[in-house]
Amino acid sequence: MAVAEQEAINLEALKRAIDDVFYSQIDSTILYYLQACVNCKACEAACPFTPTSLKYSPVNKAEIARQLYRSRFTVWGKTVGRVIGGSKKYLTLEEAETLADYVWHCTNCGACMFVCPMAIDSGALIDLLRQVSFKAGLTPKIYADIVQLEVSGKYWDIPLFKEGWSNLISKMKEAIGKDVPLDKKNSEVLFYASIYEAMVYPSVLIKTAKILDTLGKDWTFMSKPLGIRPPAGLVIGDKEGALTVMKRVYEYFTEMSPKYVMLTAGGFEYTALRYTMHEVLKVRPKYEVVHVTELLAKWYEEKEFEIEPVDEVITWHDPCQLGRRSGVFEAPRVLMRALSKKFRELPSHGVNSFCCSRGGGGCGVPTMTENMAKALGMPISEKDKEFLDSTLKPLINAGKIKVDEINKVKASQVLTGCPVCIESIGFAVDYYHANAKVNHIIELLADRIRVSKK
Ligand code: SF4
Ligand code: SF4
Repeated sequence: MAVAEQEAINLEALKRAIDDVFYSQIDSTILYYLQACVNCKACEAACPFTPTSLKYSPVNKAEIARQLYRSRFTVWGKTVGRVIGGSKKYLTLEEAETLADYVWHCTNCGACMFVCPMAIDSGALIDLLRQVSFKAGLTPKIYADIVQLEVSGKYWDIPLFKEGWSNLISKMKEAIGKDVPLDKKNSEVLFYASIYEAMVYPSVLIKTAKILDTLGKDWTFMSKPLGIRPPAGLVIGDKEGALTVMKRVYEYFTEMSPKYVMLTAGGFEYTALRYTMHEVLKVRPKYEVVHVTELLAKWYEEKEFEIEPVDEVITWHDPCQLGRRSGVFEAPRVLMRALSKKFRELPSHGVNSFCCSRGGGGCGVPTMTENMAKALGMPISEKDKEFLDSTLKPLINAGKIKVDEINKVKASQVLTGCPVCIESIGFAVDYYHANAKVNHIIELLADRIRVSKK
């Protein structure tokens, strides 16, 4: 087990983490998830990690949480269960290694919950275990270091990030032919982006700025990003770090006071900034957090612009957080139908969309993490490298299912709305030599928008 072998596991720290993190967060919802499983295994096929091994099935990964729960809260678990197995007060070294492995094989995609007859969100249980893992020091160092950079605010001292952001703003300025509105209060749209997006798809951000300008919108961009991919701590189970970052983000949103905070990213940051942040901070925002497809579909339906269609087969991949976790299914489809008469749905789409196997706790494509670490001058230990390599197999296996679906509908372009989905599906398409291009919907849409004459 790459992570566990990395450094000796501190079982005392793990015990404390189980007490402080796991047991302290068992509320009525978690209690239901722990108690209601009928072990039917219907969730197995929905999970993007099951094609790699059945041990990564949702119910099996969540079993660690159930064993901990039974040991303290059920009569059977306190007695027979401890003798014959099925209940654990704490974890042995071997079980700790299993925990450290399992928590990186869940993207919190929510697919298991939708097929479960008891509506159990195994992702929520695995997320709790991920928090235990972080607290016990079992998180791969490279991830912990990147998140710490975001939490401390020191990311802004890094020339690579500073220059990247300043180049992005210069290119936006070039694209719109005027100064980019920065940190303007009370705009209709606060166009939000993170360093991660600026690095992986600057062209999407530049084209989005161009669209806002073409449509004559009252908008503003950020003179300085609020983090690397805020709140990145949520992905690795660093709840306290995520809280620090969410406070920073909320303060900025509140100060800017826009009508909409608009994201081009529909991954975990969408659910985090739309829901989690306000829930955790116990605040009621005066702004609305939306994905770029939601606003564009609204403006399109209000006839602010037309879309000149393309003559090719295009398909849409529903990012799990934007779709299944937030219910944004129709807005991208309004745009997709306008973009091509040959828009075809993937065999698994909507609530049944098959996860790309990255994002959430599943991380990104390993080479991306390695490249980022290299660019930041962060050393990657042999063990971290081993861990990153181990994340490749699920990506390849889940990618096969996605590529087969893309080939089935004969799409020449797969459009989506999340940087990590683009990265991972793009990887799979290359790996299996499929013909489709994988892009953010903005890449195609930006060239097809025609402003209506009023
Ligand atoms: S589908 Fe639900 S009830 Fe069935 S095994 Fe999975 S978590 Fe348990
Ligand atoms: S939330 Fe998604 S990745 Fe996690 S166990 Fe369920 S199906 Fe698998």
